[in-house]
Amino acid sequence: MSAQTKKFKTEVQHLLDLMIHSLYSNKDIFLRELIANAADAIDKARFESLRNDAVSRDWTIRLETVPAKNAIRISDNGIGMTMDEVIANIGTIAKSGTKAFLEELAKNKDAVAPEMIGQFGVGFYSAFMVADKVELLTRRAGSDTQAVVWTSQGHESYTIDATAKEDQGTEVTVYLKDDMKEYLEEWKIRQIVKKYSDFIEYPIKMQVTRKDKDDKEEVVDEELNSRKAIWLRSPSEVKPEEYDNFFEHLAHFGKPLKTIHYAAEGKSEFKALLFLPEKAPFDLFMPSEQRRGLHLYVRRVFITDECKKLLPDYFRFVKGVVDSSDLPLNVSREILQENVKIDQIRNNLVKKLLGELKKMQENEPETYLKFYREFGKVLKEGIHSDYANKDKLQDLALFETMKNEPGKLITLKEYVANMPSEQKDIYFLTGESRSVLENSPHLEILRSKGYDVLFLSDPIDEWVMQSLTEYDGKKFAAAGKGDIELDDATKKQVEQKNEQAAKEHKSLLEFLAKHLEANVKEVRFSKRLTESACCLVGDTYDPGAHMERIFKAMNQDMPKSKRILELNAAHPLIAAMQTMYDRDAGSPQLGEYAEMIYDQAVMTEGGIVADPLQFARRVADLMVKATQ
Ligand code: ADP
Repeated sequence: MSAQTKKFKTEVQHLLDLMIHSLYSNKDIFLRELIANAADAIDKARFESLRNDAVSRDWTIRLETVPAKNAIRISDNGIGMTMDEVIANIGTIAKSGTKAFLEELAKNKDAVAPEMIGQFGVGFYSAFMVADKVELLTRRAGSDTQAVVWTSQGHESYTIDATAKEDQGTEVTVYLKDDMKEYLEEWKIRQIVKKYSDFIEYPIKMQVTRKDKDDKEEVVDEELNSRKAIWLRSPSEVKPEEYDNFFEHLAHFGKPLKTIHYAAEGKSEFKALLFLPEKAPFDLFMPSEQRRGLHLYVRRVFITDECKKLLPDYFRFVKGVVDSSDLPLNVSREILQENVKIDQIRNNLVKKLLGELKKMQENEPETYLKFYREFGKVLKEGIHSDYANKDKLQDLALFETMKNEPGKLITLKEYVANMPSEQKDIYFLTGESRSVLENSPHLEILRSKGYDVLFLSDPIDEWVMQSLTEYDGKKFAAAGKGDIELDDATKKQVEQKNEQAAKEHKSLLEFLAKHLEANVKEVRFSKRLTESACCLVGDTYDPGAHMERIFKAMNQDMPKSKRILELNAAHPLIAAMQTMYDRDAGSPQLGEYAEMIYDQAVMTEGGIVADPLQFARRVADLMVKATQ
C-alpha cells in the first residue's frame, strides 16, 4: 500500500484550531498527555496478557530527545494500534456530544477558557501546541510485524502508511517548533515528569549523560518517576499539589473541591482516593455511555475505568481511584458487572461520600454551597433512584423558597423550623423559572398566611418530588395540585364562603364547565386565590403542567390530562359574568369570556395559550368596548 493522505474530520480541525490558536498557556501538558496515553496503552496490553497468560513484559515508557532533528520521542511497549484503529482514534472524535460542543466553542474561540479545552481528553492533539509535525509509529500487540506510520503537520490532513516495526507498541515523535527547543533539555523533561507523571506506575526511562566517579562521561538509563501510587500512600504524606496534579490527570481540567482519601476495612478491603471536582464538566447531562468512571485497580494493576456499577449514577461527577485487595486479578470486565465484591465496594463508597457531604454541609457550609450549585441537580437524582439512602439525600438537598431572596438555598430542616405552628404541610411549587413561580396565583392564600413554599425549577424536580412524600412527619403538598390543606380555622372560613358562592353562581359554574369541557374537567371555587380571578390546578396525582411541558421539550408524548379551573369567589369578574349570564344566557360574548378566563389561567402558570391570535383579538375587542 502506498501512503494515503486523509482529511481530519471537521471536529478535529476545530479542536486543533482551538488548541493552537487560543491562549492555552500551559504547553508543558503535551508531555503529560502523551505519557498518559502511553501508560493507558500499557494498561491495556497488561490487562490482555493477564488473561491470556502471555509473557509478561518489561513494561516501559521511554523518552528520548533527537537534537539533530529538533525532536522528542515518547515510546511505549503497550497495546499499539492497527491501521483502522489509528484512523478511528486519531483522525476523529467519536463522542457525539463532544462534537456538538466543540462546534459551539469554535464559534467564539476567543472567549474559550483554557480549561474548557482540557475537558475533552484531547491528549494526543496537544502535541501540536509545540510541534510543526508529529509522527506516530505503532504496531498492535499480537499482530505480525505489520505496523502503521501516521504523520501530520496539524493542519487539515494527515498521511498514513503501512510500515514495519520490530516490537509492539507506539512511538510518537514530536518535531518541535523553533521556539520550543526547551523541551529538548533534560532538566525541563525531568521537571514535567516529576510534576505531572510521578505516580505513573510504569518506569518512565530516559538515557542521560552522567559523569562517573572518575569524571568520565557515561550514558545511563534513568527512571524519572518515583512510581509511588498516590492512593496507596498515607494521606499525611501526600502534599496538596500532588493531589491537585493527580486530579488533573484523571479529570483533565480544574481542581478538586474536596479530596477524600481513605482505606476501607472489614467486609471489603480497598484503598480509595476520591475527588469532588470544583467545576462540573460539560457532559454531566449527556448520555452516559462514553463517560469514564472511577479507575478500578486490583493490587496496583489497572483493570478498568468503565465499571459503571462502582458508583450510582447520581455520583457520576466523582473522580478517583479504587484499589481493591480482594478482587481476583484475572477478572474480566464483564464479570465485574456482576461481582458481589463490587456491590460491597459501591455501598462503602456511597456511605463514605454521603457522610463526607454531610460533614461538609455542617462544618464548611460555604464549600458545600459551592458544591451544591455545581452538582446539586445530579445529587438530587438519588432521592428518586436510591431508596435506601433517600433520607440522607433529602437532608443534603437545598431549595430556593418563596420567602427567601432568589439564589438563597435552604434545607428542609430549615424550612420546617420556620413553619408557623398551625401550618401542617410542606408546600412546593414546580415550574419553569423563579419568576414564573413567584407570580403564580397558586401561592396567594399561602402567601397571605405567611407560609413558605419550596420553589422547584429544575426539570429533575418533577421526578424528585414524586419520591419525596414526607419529611419530619410532615407531608409534601403541591401548591398547584389537589385540594389544598390549610389550618382548620382558615379552612372553615374559606369553605363557607365557597359554598355560599357555589349556590349563588350555580348556573354560571355549569355554563363554564360545559363551555370549557374540552379543556377542564371541573370548574369550582378556589381555596387558593385571594387576588387573581382564576387558576388551573391538577388533581393530586396528575402529572402537572410543568411535567407536560418537560415531556414536550423532550419530544415525548404524554396524554394531556384535563385539569380543574378554580375561580376566586371574591373577584368582581364573577359577579359581572353572573349578571351577564342572567341577562342573556345565550350571549356569544359569554363564551368569549369563558375562553379568556381559561387562557388567563394558562398564562399565569407560564404556559402558552392555544391560539394567541384569537386571544389578542378578544383583548383588543374588549379594549375598544371599554373606551366606547
Ligand atoms: P484520550 O486518550 O483521552 O482518549 P487521545 O486523543 O489522547 O484521547 O487519544 C485518542 C485515542 O488514541 C486513545 O483513546 C487511544 O485509543 C489511542 N492512543 C493514543 N495514544 C496511544 C498509544 N500510545 N498507544 C495506543 N493507543 C493510543
